[in-house]
Amino acid sequence: MQVIQSTKLANVCYEIRGPVLEEAMRLEAAGERILKLNTGNPAIFGFECPPEILEDMLRNVGDAHGYGDAKGLPAARRAVVQHYETKGIELSVEDVYLGNGVSELIQMSMQALLDDGDEVLVPAPDYPLWTASVSLAGGTAVHYRCDEQSDWMPDLADIESKVTDRTKAIVIINPNNPTGAVYDDEMLRSLTEIARRHNLIVCSDEIYDKILYDGVTHTPTAAIAPDLLTLTFNGLSKAYRVAGYRSGWMAVCGPKAHADSYIEGLTILANMRLCANMPAQYAVATALGGRQSINDLVLPGGRLLEQRDVAHELLTQIPGVTCVKPKGALYAFPRLDPKVYKIKDDRQMVLDLLRAEKIMVVHGTGFNWPEPDHFRLVTLPSTKDLADAVTRIGNFLDGYGQP
Ligand code: PLP
Repeated sequence: MQVIQSTKLANVCYEIRGPVLEEAMRLEAAGERILKLNTGNPAIFGFECPPEILEDMLRNVGDAHGYGDAKGLPAARRAVVQHYETKGIELSVEDVYLGNGVSELIQMSMQALLDDGDEVLVPAPDYPLWTASVSLAGGTAVHYRCDEQSDWMPDLADIESKVTDRTKAIVIINPNNPTGAVYDDEMLRSLTEIARRHNLIVCSDEIYDKILYDGVTHTPTAAIAPDLLTLTFNGLSKAYRVAGYRSGWMAVCGPKAHADSYIEGLTILANMRLCANMPAQYAVATALGGRQSINDLVLPGGRLLEQRDVAHELLTQIPGVTCVKPKGALYAFPRLDPKVYKIKDDRQMVLDLLRAEKIMVVHGTGFNWPEPDHFRLVTLPSTKDLADAVTRIGNFLDGYGQP
């Protein structure tokens, strides 16, 4: 008898590691060298772990072999509280949950919130874990459009038109993956005003808050709307380049008196997974309290900034390709002009690219973008590798999907 997956997975997709990656791994097993530009994993592109983080983990690892508090090490949670206090956000140690990366906490936040048929407003394009987590929890992700013509800012009228009496929360990803957009305070005020009017919980994914280019600044959503229940997600994977340590946090900010039941639900889920990876929790206070070495990478002369520039410049030299310059994060999300490239199935397009040029990128519909006219690549490789990759993408596109 066949063993069939649960119907709960019917609408759950995560294409960043989907069938295209399986094909890439099959090609690798057959001896091909594949440049994988699909995941925002700094370590595989030569980014090292900041030494103070490694030292603190190693110093404490001997004491980290037991289960810890379900919500996380008190010292780490206190460091998160102090971090947000410096940004004008009030919260207590009890409001902070540590997790095995933000990924686990995103899933917990949705599992604890949603009944079947409840709706969550999620950006399109999005980091697809959000849509997948809403679906897995029985909810419906209702996508609001971000407008490429306006530097990928959320379309406020579209959001407003999509609120129903089943809408429970709005997801904000800022800085955004995949677009690299960074929202200013006015945009955050407009977004939170919609949440305020419709009694929505705000879920603010801020994992790229320190990866900012061209002098833009980042404001946490919770600082803009202290009167709203805002779950703020962040962690060590990106700004501290230790994605493999699986360390993130969720800070429950704003008024909570009306949310006792939901918070109890979050705590039940935290208890059920016993605790997050303990050794990495010892690095949280060091990371937040110490020198922010990410600045060396994003300020003028920094490697990430140079790579963003090279990727953007070379991509936009390909005929029929445009790309809004990313202001933050680790990705570029170029557009293929549908008048030049007649692409019906963008997953097939990235598979064809993989087979022809041995480069793996992720198709735009994998980020819940409705049209097959975008793809995402990471800007983590060296400028030399990026230049080579983009040249090969240009060679592949030359003539592709043209009548
Ligand atoms: N949120 C966003 C917007 C991301 O891009 C990612 C990873 O790429 C995550 C969350 C997951 O991060 P973590 O490694 O903390 O699970």
